[in-house]
Amino acid sequence: MRTLETIIADSSASKALEKAIHGEELDFNDGVSLMNIDDIHLLGLVADNVRKKLVGDKVTFVSSYNLNYSNICVAKCSICAFYRPYKKGKKVSGGYTLSVPQVLERVKKAVNNGATEIHIVGGLNPDLQIEFYENIFRGIKTKWPNVTVKALTMIEIIFISKLTNNSITEVFSRFKDAGIDANAGGGAEIFNPEIRKIVAAASKCSGEEWLNAAEIAHKQGIRGNSTMLYGHVEKTEHRVDHILKIRELQKRTSGFLSFIPLKYSPENTELLISGRVNGPSSAFDDLRVYATSRLLLAGSINNIAIYWVALGKKVAQIVLTYGGNDLVGTALNEKVYRSTGRNEIATKESIVHIAKEIGRIPAERDTLYNVLNYL
Ligand code: SF4
Repeated sequence: MRTLETIIADSSASKALEKAIHGEELDFNDGVSLMNIDDIHLLGLVADNVRKKLVGDKVTFVSSYNLNYSNICVAKCSICAFYRPYKKGKKVSGGYTLSVPQVLERVKKAVNNGATEIHIVGGLNPDLQIEFYENIFRGIKTKWPNVTVKALTMIEIIFISKLTNNSITEVFSRFKDAGIDANAGGGAEIFNPEIRKIVAAASKCSGEEWLNAAEIAHKQGIRGNSTMLYGHVEKTEHRVDHILKIRELQKRTSGFLSFIPLKYSPENTELLISGRVNGPSSAFDDLRVYATSRLLLAGSINNIAIYWVALGKKVAQIVLTYGGNDLVGTALNEKVYRSTGRNEIATKESIVHIAKEIGRIPAERDTLYNVLNYL
């Protein structure tokens, strides 16, 4: 009978898998060989084994409410179906910006429905000054001091910094004073400049700027998620390079709470309309990305979070057996992925069911990954 060792020895990625099993740090070539592996199930088996060793059988999630304060954006990214273009002094069809009282009204409903985290992101809207954001954060924390405010991607922070002539350090410091607890990890897309040029508008920050802003946030004690948008025009090498750059920063700051591979959802986006992509990544590709992320980040970022809104709950459940350990959140009211036709909804009960069905232990957590209760 063939043992796991002999199966690994016969694999096209045997060196990387053996290193992973023995807890050794993987390098770029290891990452590429894993991402290109033929035997996806073997990769999943090893990733699941490493997941179990590092974080056990808990499946964590947070009760979160997504608040998208405005969809007006100057950037016009080809991957985005959420934004409406900014036109100075003009109303834009389908465009909206919530007022501070409207934001607080929504947060009130969310808190009454059990949300412990308010996840706040939006478009790059030049009409919104720094005080707008401060008033939102301060307003939430004044009324609901125990709710966590997880707000803004590095893209928004850099935009606000340039718009208002405040340094990134100053923006973070003001937002921290106003009540921000953590930052959202989106907008990292893919760091490779050539790919980034295709998927993100020129006005969006570079990969280096994203990493630099994250480092500043971490140094000020503002932790957050890290992400990678995959499944568009990037190649294996770009994915591995992206994950390793996140790992490099994590070694210096320990500021990332999790890594979330975000599956690109092409419906209604310019990239699909222009024919540069034909459709979403396959479920096999999704499994490869998640399992390889687990192995490349082992020991650096141990929370590999599964964004079920993009994957769908069924694939998300399988990913839990391919290295994933966290289901992000209930994501009530999520709008960015829903603009691309994704209509997945998950209640707390359905998330608990996903975990229990595969013999794992659902655990509600806070934003900082402290377990609040087992379910
Ligand atoms: S991805 Fe973000 S920055 Fe780009 S157009 Fe959409 S909202 Fe704007």
